[in-house]
Amino acid sequence: MESIHFGRWQLSCDPESTRKAYAAVRTGGPEECGCQPCLNFVAARDQIYGPDVRAVLEKLGVSHNREVEIYHMARLETGRHLYGGWFHFVGSIVSGADAAEKISENTWRPNLEESSEYFSLGFSSRLELVREPFAGLPLVQVEFTAKVPWVLATGEPPLSRLSLQLKCLGFSLQENRVGRSKKWPT
Ligand SMILES: [Zn+2]
Repeated sequence: MESIHFGRWQLSCDPESTRKAYAAVRTGGPEECGCQPCLNFVAARDQIYGPDVRAVLEKLGVSHNREVEIYHMARLETGRHLYGGWFHFVGSIVSGADAAEKISENTWRPNLEESSEYFSLGFSSRLELVREPFAGLPLVQVEFTAKVPWVLATGEPPLSRLSLQLKCLGFSLQENRVGRSKKWPT
């Protein structure tokens, strides 16, 4: 086991087992899905994960192009698109409040830390959609949100209802720092 530090988290990880599991994963979640927002994410992937984020993922043994799943949340007023997604790695959270903050019985909100203006990251022991090669291993979920430009020539979703709703509720996605203490609609 190795030790790694990011934001408020101290993590224990087994990069070798993680790499072994990733070697058995053929493709990333967005490629599997194939919808326009997912294909845009794939096309923009190289600019989404900055050098610092890649360094963290690499230390953990995570293949950055093998997301479990990514999801498109909204087109922002800045023109960028808000996405979320997650990975798994073999290890455990030693310290640091879980990135999935429970706010009521069946409601969690992401409580992430910024790595840049466009990318936030956090670690959770709440696991979703664990892939076959990871089954039965002690895992941590890497949660992220990213503000991504639309790089495909077509298929850009319009300014979404979510951003309009948030606007009505007094949130401005443009000004808000994603992740840290923002309340998400459920
Ligand atoms: Zn998709």
